[in-house]
Amino acid sequence: MPLKLSSPITEAPRIGPAKTKFLEKLNIRHVRDLLYTFPRRYDDFSQTTFMKDLKVGEKMTVRGKVTSVKSDWGFRGRQRLLRIFVELADHTGTLSVTWYNLRFLPKQLWQGRELYVAGVVEESHLKKKTPHSQYAMRSPVIEFADSRQEQTHTGRITPVYPETYGVTSRFLRYQVKQLLPLIDSLPEYIPADIRKRHNLIGIREAIRIVHFPDNTEQLKEAQRRLRFDELFFLQLAALVRRQHLKQHQAFSIKNEAAKLKKFIQKFPFTLTAAQEKALQEILNDLYKTVPMNRLLQGDVGSGKSAVALLATYTTLQAGYKVLYLAPTEILARQQAQYFALTLGQEKARLLIGALSKQAKETIKRELQQTEVVCVVGTHALLQGDVAASQVGLVIIDEQHRFGVAQRHTLQEGHQEIRPHLLSMTATPIPRTLNLTVYGDLDISILDELPPGRKPVKTSIIAPDKREQAIIHTLEELHRGRQGYVITPLVEESEKLQVKSAKETYEEMKKLFPGIAISLVHGQLPSEEKETIMRNFAAGAIQLLVSTAVVEVGVNVPNATAMIIEGAERFGLAQLHQFRGRIGRGEYQSYCYLFPTTAAAASSRRLKILTETTDGFVIAEEDLRLRGPGEVYGVAQSGFGDLKVASLLDYPMIKATRQEAERLLQEDSELKDYPILKGKVEQKNLLAHFE
Ligand code: ADP
Ligand code: MG
Repeated sequence: MPLKLSSPITEAPRIGPAKTKFLEKLNIRHVRDLLYTFPRRYDDFSQTTFMKDLKVGEKMTVRGKVTSVKSDWGFRGRQRLLRIFVELADHTGTLSVTWYNLRFLPKQLWQGRELYVAGVVEESHLKKKTPHSQYAMRSPVIEFADSRQEQTHTGRITPVYPETYGVTSRFLRYQVKQLLPLIDSLPEYIPADIRKRHNLIGIREAIRIVHFPDNTEQLKEAQRRLRFDELFFLQLAALVRRQHLKQHQAFSIKNEAAKLKKFIQKFPFTLTAAQEKALQEILNDLYKTVPMNRLLQGDVGSGKSAVALLATYTTLQAGYKVLYLAPTEILARQQAQYFALTLGQEKARLLIGALSKQAKETIKRELQQTEVVCVVGTHALLQGDVAASQVGLVIIDEQHRFGVAQRHTLQEGHQEIRPHLLSMTATPIPRTLNLTVYGDLDISILDELPPGRKPVKTSIIAPDKREQAIIHTLEELHRGRQGYVITPLVEESEKLQVKSAKETYEEMKKLFPGIAISLVHGQLPSEEKETIMRNFAAGAIQLLVSTAVVEVGVNVPNATAMIIEGAERFGLAQLHQFRGRIGRGEYQSYCYLFPTTAAAASSRRLKILTETTDGFVIAEEDLRLRGPGEVYGVAQSGFGDLKVASLLDYPMIKATRQEAERLLQEDSELKDYPILKGKVEQKNLLAHFE
């Protein structure tokens, strides 16, 4: 059978079961996936340097003949290490090159064979083994000149593919080259007028070029086309989702302005302008008979709860139930208490795993009956046996903590008529991202903190200055305040994480003698965690040592000090989140970033935190420095898998948004664009079940 784009990758030559497994790690299952695996970067072998012109510290490419090959076994730590020493020469000089552990390599290196190597030039330290060379390279990229000749039509810019254990870039390059002719059967799917408006080259051409470009101008055009595709599909999929949602019915929730006003007047504060605006946007949506799908974004402490309360109040007044989903029991408890206090005991319920079976049953029964209540709950709300009627509004706090499927359960699971949905997040993301990441949502932003809040004073403490920060924290505790210590992030394993947390805890006990101090980490049973948190909230614990994985989103206004160990290992947005746990009350609060080394202490990155407390600015910087895949909340929403496009490319995001809107206006069902329709459906299906 001839190979097709849709053929399983196993049918391609030289790909056996073992390779198939490895390829799967790169998400390559079909021939098409392979051709859509784009190079991560390119090595430009078109510019070579003579050996005599090499410069230490620079990345350069040389072409030379092998004059000697030696290898031996050394050690790296306790691991045995195959070292391969090769000397290369051109007519101007020699270069010594070392590779490690590439067992296949010595067989391919014979005297006189010509190679290209590209890497960073170093001073040669291997004088004994390679007496002639002044310069050296370690683990450079290698390209055989003889195999190049047969590849000349591909140009000299060599694609470097994402690698994984068992799959080298070299292997992928070979496979792509073999299979690339199949791309001719790929139909063009972007409508001609859109391509024309944006000067986009054809998809087949783009894919051919992106794998084997002749020159950089050409490559840029190919990449631009592929970036456009990627963002265009995102936008189209988001707009289609939005369209679908609007086809459903929702209860129209009217608000009685006078009553609402009176209710607000009982607050101990007046709403900020941002809260007023968000509230208006929400009330407008609630009134409509299509379901609201709105995200309320605001930094920790910006007053999202008050807005959620007012939406809840309005919904209950109109005679409908409210479901409020919280990520942890402690947050659910806190929220239920807040609702009971403000809305009346009879209106608020708490549904968490820790309740007795009987108590749970009572609430579940109420949910099915006409009782107009607000039920605050954790995952317990998502259980299959929870059925509710007359739900007017669903609120999801810290929405990124829940999967898409879970969010859908709440919104779709209960009744024919959809509830309005209000998601909330304290992870601000750059405004430029909202259009993409939350393309199917409407967004309200609380970009203003309530007045009178004292911004947290943040300082970076070099390792030799810690004592002062400890003393100052101790003074805060003696004054009756409380504090947090965040323990370093250990990526490798949960176990090491806990070990490191325990070490920090022991150290803190010594540094803070006579202080009531406790440790909370992810491996504690949840009741124990809850107890510790309750004791901390009650003031019985003065200093809480906590791992990053334990979300301590609890409101303890008396906490004014925070020490973050190993600060450089965290993302900026995450550090900002931690810091949001202090500075919640009337007192001045202090956050001390403890980087591990003096070098880390002087890095630019952390400095941003000392300069601003604006979560949006920090998020933008974080995104710029680490890329969207890493940024908290973005990775989880399934947008970390962009291959070529950037979520920072605002002009292109806007352009694709406009084109997607235009296309759907013309043909809302995409009837004339079956391929686009298929792609969008597939994307939305994935989003749904992610
Ligand atoms: P978020 O949920 O956004 O982190 P909260 O809603 O918990 O923030 O609000 C944090 C604190 O600010 C609460 O103690 C709340 O009572 C208070 N607060 C909310 N809105 C205002 C306001 N407009 N003026 C003064 N204080 C406010
Ligand atoms: Mg909150």
